[in-house]
Amino acid sequence: MADIEIIRSQLKAHPDFPKKGIVFLDIFPLLRNPLTFEVLITHLVHHLISETLIKTPNRKIDVVVGLDARGFLLGPIIALRLGAAFVPVRKQGKLPGECVSATYEKEYGTDSFEMQADAIQPGQSVVVIDDLIATGGSAKAAGELIAQQGGKTLEYLFIIELSFLNGASKLDAPVYSIVQED
Ligand code: 5GP
Repeated sequence: MADIEIIRSQLKAHPDFPKKGIVFLDIFPLLRNPLTFEVLITHLVHHLISETLIKTPNRKIDVVVGLDARGFLLGPIIALRLGAAFVPVRKQGKLPGECVSATYEKEYGTDSFEMQADAIQPGQSVVVIDDLIATGGSAKAAGELIAQQGGKTLEYLFIIELSFLNGASKLDAPVYSIVQED
């Protein structure tokens, strides 16, 4: 599809960032150009309406959850287009009020994600969005926060999936990614 090629062409690989041996895939060139940003958002919204909602019993997405930090750039726009709520998942200690938390593995040690405790109501349909899935650890923690509040995760959405790390196998719902890196 032409839109997938447009999106792929705007991703920039940065060797040895943030440290030697890691090739970091940067999504920001995609957002810099309003036309490619629009192609990206329209692609994700079209996927959600034509493929995800069609399989959902009440044909409704109640909440879009965006992951700290690049999920915050995509999630609110998609939520507005769907008429859904936007809920952020943030690193520990950043959100006011009562929070639920879940830990996830990082390269060295663990980290915690939090969500405000009243953000999702039991039975609500939720999709999760971030820029990239690598090991799947952060998306899994977000899924746990949604489940702790009685939400039902319909799908995890990413621009890029590092397929060779098999992060999707850790998650409790299907993964949709626009670009797969083997
Ligand atoms: P995971 O928890 O799946 O191992 O890692 C995914 C998280 O790391 C995401 O929040 C993502 O933003 C970040 N991340 C890891 N590697 C990259 C990369 O190469 N490019 C971008 N844009 N994000 C990355």
